[in-house]
Amino acid sequence: MDDHQTQLKNINRRTVLNYIRKHTHATKAGLASATGFTFAAVKKILDELENQGLVRFACIEKKAVGRNSAMYEINPDFGYMISLYMNRKEIHVAVVNLGRKIVARRRIPMENRCLSQKELIEQLLDSVQEVMKEAGAAREKYVGVGIGVPGPIDMEQGMVLTPPNMPMLHYLPLRDILQSRLGLPVYLHKDTNVIALGEFWNEEGRGSESLFYLDVDMGIGSGMITNGKINAGAEGKAGEFGHVTIDLNGPVCKCGNRGCLEAMASGIAVLRDFKAELEKHPNHPLYPRRECLEIGDLAQAYRDKDMIAVPIINRAAFYVGIGVANVINLLDPEKVVLGGLFLRDFESSYEIITNVAVQRMMKNGNGRNIVKSQLGADAGVIGCAEVVIDRFFQEAVNGIWAKN
Ligand SMILES: [Zn+2]
Repeated sequence: MDDHQTQLKNINRRTVLNYIRKHTHATKAGLASATGFTFAAVKKILDELENQGLVRFACIEKKAVGRNSAMYEINPDFGYMISLYMNRKEIHVAVVNLGRKIVARRRIPMENRCLSQKELIEQLLDSVQEVMKEAGAAREKYVGVGIGVPGPIDMEQGMVLTPPNMPMLHYLPLRDILQSRLGLPVYLHKDTNVIALGEFWNEEGRGSESLFYLDVDMGIGSGMITNGKINAGAEGKAGEFGHVTIDLNGPVCKCGNRGCLEAMASGIAVLRDFKAELEKHPNHPLYPRRECLEIGDLAQAYRDKDMIAVPIINRAAFYVGIGVANVINLLDPEKVVLGGLFLRDFESSYEIITNVAVQRMMKNGNGRNIVKSQLGADAGVIGCAEVVIDRFFQEAVNGIWAKN
């Protein structure tokens, strides 16, 4: 068979695989109508994929009318990924199978720890060995490693640059070090981009082709998925939504500009405003502790309907809502997912955010496409794996059917 024919066949195989991957299960008839292939062609491709072990029979679809038919799914045990998802609190080291299930995981606490880069790498590698042992899959089944780290990063060099509060990661060429130590391809992305990808493949995001993830935590970051892929921008530097200007005369941001969303509505911003207000209220029960307050104290005060905390959080939620409206007006993503501590600790702010966004967006809508993250940290872990899975599905058929 000539190369051209092989290429065509591989495109068809990929179409079938991607459909099953996206829909979790598929019948032959469903595949035929979705792809436009004949029933016989679908059957032949499924037989080939099943023979290779990439696809397997899942169950019988019971229909109220007509014949029951066989459902197929991706064989989750065909391949395994290693995920390294890092945030300022902890590093998640996990093994994820091709069905996006986390089969083993370790957490390395990072808060208040001072590790050298060498110690960090050794600890990462030890944890990788542990999770691989626990997962119990054969070494040759591992496809690659996906890493999500706080930005900024240099994607081309596979290097972490200078994430705040994580000095042990500064200028660490993480991709190349792990690639040579583990002997597997390694992909390095910014944390918010892998979270966005994880959310995209979660049920909430799955139906969509484009998704915007807004992370409102101590800082504010974002990730964008376009046509099912991470959209990292021309130099991999996109996703700095925390630094869009909301108020020209607002407080100075850590980036040096004034009135960035991050300076107006992040965890750091609301804590700063809370402390400043407490200074004016010496009788407030938190006044004596105003210098060492943490975000948890503010969250508790907000839950207690504290007269200082509530307006500060409501105002921050208003700014986040404006940010979301800006995103929708500029990009019109099918889904906006909100994550980070803001939504977790100040739960009722969600309503303010969506109301403000709906009022200010140009298109008609009820805000139903603005949702809260359902996965939490797992979005990062699954997103890291998904970076590798995506490559796998693009390249696997070419590898398996390169010549025949
Ligand atoms: Zn800024």
